[in-house]
Parts: sequence; C-alpha cells; structure tokens
Amino acid sequence: MSYPHFLVMPYPILGHMNPLLQFSQVLANHGCKITFLITEFNQKRMKSEIDHLGAQIKFVTLPDGLDPEDDRSDQPKVILSLRNTMPTKLHRLIQDINNNNNALDGDNNKITCLVVSKNIGWALEVAHKLGIKGALLWPASATSLASFESIPRLIDEGIIDSETGLPTRKQEIQLLPNSPMMDTANLPWCSLGKNFFLHMVEDTQSLKLGEWWLCNTTCDLEPGALAMWPRFLSIGPLMQSDTNKSSFWREDTTCLHWLDQHPPQSVVYVSFGSLAIVEPNQFNELAIGLDLLNKPFLWVVRPSNENNKVNNTYPNEFHGSKGKIIGWAPQKKILNHPAIACFITHCGWNSIIEGVCGGIPFLCWPFFSDQFINKSYICDVWKVGLGLDQDENGLIMKGEIRKKVEQLLGNEDIKARSVKLKELTVNNFDEGGQSSQNIEKFINWAKD
Ligand code: UDP
Repeated sequence: MSYPHFLVMPYPILGHMNPLLQFSQVLANHGCKITFLITEFNQKRMKSEIDHLGAQIKFVTLPDGLDPEDDRSDQPKVILSLRNTMPTKLHRLIQDINNNNNALDGDNNKITCLVVSKNIGWALEVAHKLGIKGALLWPASATSLASFESIPRLIDEGIIDSETGLPTRKQEIQLLPNSPMMDTANLPWCSLGKNFFLHMVEDTQSLKLGEWWLCNTTCDLEPGALAMWPRFLSIGPLMQSDTNKSSFWREDTTCLHWLDQHPPQSVVYVSFGSLAIVEPNQFNELAIGLDLLNKPFLWVVRPSNENNKVNNTYPNEFHGSKGKIIGWAPQKKILNHPAIACFITHCGWNSIIEGVCGGIPFLCWPFFSDQFINKSYICDVWKVGLGLDQDENGLIMKGEIRKKVEQLLGNEDIKARSVKLKELTVNNFDEGGQSSQNIEKFINWAKD
C-alpha cells in the first residue's frame, strides 16, 4: 500500500499546534501525505507559516464557532464551542476529501488516519464512525496523560472526589513508578475547575478510540509513564527535528543579534509561554527582580490587546537597562544560543522539551495544570533546575528571584546534568534512535 494520508487536527492553541505541526513535517519527510486542519480564526494568524509549508502540507479550515472578538484564552469557552459546532462539519469535510480524491486519484489519497491533540476527543468519534483510524498526539508530558488515565483509580482509592476531581485530603502520592512524589493539590485538573475536570474525564474516554497515544517525550525522560500502557509511544523530542513552528505573534528576531553581543552563558531568558498571565503585583516584583540581578536578561512580555487580560505596566522603579524586552521570541533559536545561561519558565511542556534540547538549566515558575508535575521532573528527577518559592501571599518576590538565579548559575552540577540530559534526549531522534523507530512503527501501522 502507498504512504498513508493523515488528517492532523490540533486543539487551536499554540502549545498544541506546534507539536502537531512539527510531527506533521516529520511524517511528510517520511513521504506521508498531510492535511492539517486549523480554525478560520487561526488561519489569519498563521499566514506566513501556511505560505512557507504549503508545498509540504495542505491546510484546510473550519470555523471555531466563536465571534471574532471572543476571548480565545478562555479555554472552557473554546472547548465547548468546538464541541458544539465542529463535529458535523468535520464529518462532512472528511467525506468531501475522500469522495473528491476517489474521483480524481482512486483510493490512494483518501484520509487513512486522524491525529488529534487533547480536548477534542470527539473528533476521534467522528473518525471512528467513518471507519478511519485514529491516534492522539498528546502535547504535554506522558505523566500528565497517565494522570488523566488514572482518574478512575484515584476516585476508587478515595484520593480525589468523583464530582470535582479535588483531593479528599492533603497528601503526597506517587502517581506512577519512577515518577516524582506530588501533592494531590497539584494534579493537573485541580487548578482548572470542576467543569474542566468533568470535560477531561469525558475527553479521555473518547481519546481511547485512538489506537496510539503519541507523546512528545523520551524513555529517558519519563520511563515510568511510558511503561504503564502499551498504547503510549514516545516520539520526542519533536523540536529536535528540522521543523518549523507556528506562532500567533510576530517573532522579534532582533533579540538574536542582541544575544550575539553577549558572552556565553551570560543571559537570563524569561518566558511564560502563550497562555499564562502574570498578575500586576507579580509583574512588578518580576520586573524589579530582573533589574536586581545586575545581569543581562531577555524577557518575553506578550502584547496586551482588548481580547486578553495581559498587564504590561512597568513599575516606576524599573530601569531594565541590562535587559531586552520583546513581545514574542524565536524561542527554539534562543534556547540554542550560546549566550543563554538559564531559562525562567512557566514549565509548559513544549518549553521544557525545547530547554532540555538546548542543554539549559531551568528556574521553575509553574502557573497551572501540568506545570507543577513538570516542575517536579526538572527539580527532583532530572535535577536540571531549581524552583522559585512563593511567599505567604502567594508572590514570588524580587529577592527570591535574585537568590535563585545566583544559586542556579553557581551550581556546576546542575549545569553538567543539563548538558548530559540534552545529549541523552536528542539522540532519540537520530537514525535508529527510539523515537525514530517508534515513528516508523506508527507509519507502518497507519499503512495497513
Ligand atoms: N513560544 C515562542 N515564543 C515565545 C514564547 C513561547 O515561540 O516568546 C513557544 C514555545 O517555543 C513553545 C510554545 O510557544 O513551543 C509554548 O508552549 P508551552 O507548552 O511551553 O506553553 P503554553 O503556551 O501551552 O502554556
């Protein structure tokens, strides 16, 4: 049989679109045909990527059911809108593609497999009804996926409440063999509310229609989680392959030239990804804390607009004379730039994988969801970073920022482990590496 045709459909946020786009490029490089489904809203934001990748990947769109001015950082609203408006349209889209291809090219170009990210498990139900294979590409850690899969057990054992998902009492558990101990209050759904928990329970059920649960990770990073279920397949680190990412904001590449002016391992890079919002008091502490470092820093402050709640007002005391502030960074390039000394991160999984592949030590500042588990891996398992501690009011103070940056940059063991972890991780994508073998296995399965 000829190479399979994948319809790839990410949930429409950057942290999902990037790994799925990168995976699509890997599949396309293996000769597979790719149709990549994005929302009409994101199509306008991704024009340059679409132009750039158009020869390799065919982009198609569907509406997300929201109005142009709706706040698309409101995840429950987006999840609900997609669920209510998209299934019938997706069904029709697949039928149209397959019927048209039938007429033009015979069966060869029919969609053979749908690959989705999380929050849109219903899409696998659509594929299932049409007799099309399905797979999940989980855009976070295998451990966080395993935590969702473990929900029934956690309920049975009385560790969490079945209605809210919240811990029944304060305790530390080890979710999986070889995974770090965690406070049950840090289970990924606890910071996102009851409705999100109930949605995830339902979503995880639908995702079981995916024969493979592909994870952007490696056996060295998360051996315990990957060994738990045969359907888990590691295919990371995706960013290591020669692929492009998408971005909703224009990347400010002037910072690369600015970095070139700095000595090796001298610049502190600060970025909290695409969703996390730094509250005004915390924003002030961070700004002054960065000044206090007396070191060069590169800080990503996402632009505010009427659709989001980002606050960008700098305190009067802030000078920023040693720093560069940009609206959106070419992060993959930055984390591979020799001038970077460490990464102050919200611990989003993509950022972590990118930082690991750059061999960069981390300062962890988790905000919500799986970011707390990810922090535990960095600090307690791989030991390639330190955590920033909040004070009694829940703030990370300027003094704490300075102290931890100094501790981190003075810790040669952490730096050495970061370099070692990089080597161990990137090897997975070399010829014969575990992830390369798993990708071959996945493509062969889709061909049958
Ligand atoms: N990113 C970027 N430029 C920035 C900040 C982030 O390109 O200035 C990218 C980053 O490389 C990563 C993604 O945005 O691929 C963020 O994903 P992550 O899982 O780290 O966090 P999320 O945004 O989902 O919270």
